[in-house]
Amino acid sequence: MHELRPQSAREASLWDAAATVPDPEIPVISIADLGILRGARFDGEQPVITITPTYSGCPAMETISTDVKKAVVAAGFSSPVIDLVLTPAWTTDWITEAGKKALEDYGIAPPQRRETASGPIPISLSAPVKCPRCGSRNTKELSHFGSTSCKALYSCRDCQEPFDYFKVH
Ligand SMILES: [Zn+2]
Repeated sequence: MHELRPQSAREASLWDAAATVPDPEIPVISIADLGILRGARFDGEQPVITITPTYSGCPAMETISTDVKKAVVAAGFSSPVIDLVLTPAWTTDWITEAGKKALEDYGIAPPQRRETASGPIPISLSAPVKCPRCGSRNTKELSHFGSTSCKALYSCRDCQEPFDYFKVH
């Protein structure tokens, strides 16, 4: 269960309708598991869905807004509005464990952090990224910008396969 899913049954069903929407760029992960979906509530009778855009460079918010409205209407709610909230800014820390697993199963190494005394730091700065195919950490970055600017292109020295790494933000 997602930690942000509302308690009340009515709002929870609104959340569930929005939560089914997949990310347009990585369709194996839902916007709930990606951490973009931040809330579902009613303003009087009007359904309000709160979403927080990912960092610039992954501009899919128009598509997501349209898809969320469609999904909510299909679930029986009328005239939904999208509330775009920019602060606090989206971070890869909001990707759920289920979301990270979906990314890895899809062949994208999920964002990795390592806890240090001064707090979590992106693991790519401290240790190699884990290959999503064979699990090896014997990997190297080929390009800091992969198929989209939110991903880096890596190569595995063990299984020889290239893969995308979803960078920490
Ligand atoms: Zn490998």
